[in-house]
Amino acid sequence: MAAVRTLGLIVRSVDVFETSSVVTLFTRELGKVSALAKGARRLKSPLQGGLDLLGVSDIVLLHKASDTLDLVTEAAPVERFASLRRDLAALYAGYYIAEILSDLTDSHDSHPRLFDAATITLRHLGDSESRSRRLLRFELACLRELGLMPTLDACAHCGASVEGRGDAFAFGLATGGVLCPLCRPGQPHVATLSGRTLDAIRVLASPGGGWRDLDASPASLAPVRTTVGNLVSHQLGRRPRLLPYLGA
Ligand SMILES: [Zn+2]
Repeated sequence: MAAVRTLGLIVRSVDVFETSSVVTLFTRELGKVSALAKGARRLKSPLQGGLDLLGVSDIVLLHKASDTLDLVTEAAPVERFASLRRDLAALYAGYYIAEILSDLTDSHDSHPRLFDAATITLRHLGDSESRSRRLLRFELACLRELGLMPTLDACAHCGASVEGRGDAFAFGLATGGVLCPLCRPGQPHVATLSGRTLDAIRVLASPGGGWRDLDASPASLAPVRTTVGNLVSHQLGRRPRLLPYLGA
């Protein structure tokens, strides 16, 4: 039984027994971990304040045998995202990030870059002007990091380039990205995207600061929001519970 220290974002917490909780942590070093926090809800528990939802804490875990929950033995708060307490739209976006990390990642599958992307996004959710784009960037980073990113430049089926093919693109949610006109017939779950929407998704999925110059008007972001929401839903196998609460 080895103790491990890691930075963890608390993405889920369920009360169990009289005073304990089972927490789901998205940790930087170990990926998603579910652990029992014994007596965490007791008034004078040393774990108090270290296991608040959407906080980042320095956590010590005792790793138990394969089919038992790990045990939280220490939890010291490292970062709290103040805007989540002041701003309901920011809080919904934060819950959405927690839902994706909790339900789309596998246990003990380490993704430090995804942890960093989540904390950077949470830190800036109070900025209403950039919030929608930051959230979309996080979702696309998540899909990329987990190997679920759709192809955006070449046909997902035959690999042919789709550049210069007019302004309406077939986008196969189940096929894994854009489809050329030859491959489109017979494919399930095909949406039609404008060139503008496809370009916006490309920019949001790219590293660097190009996304800051994107047209952030609701009219232009709404189809991007719908498409990325559909991609995440497809991978989860259901609509995320928080998806309806996200503005465009
Ligand atoms: Zn094709």
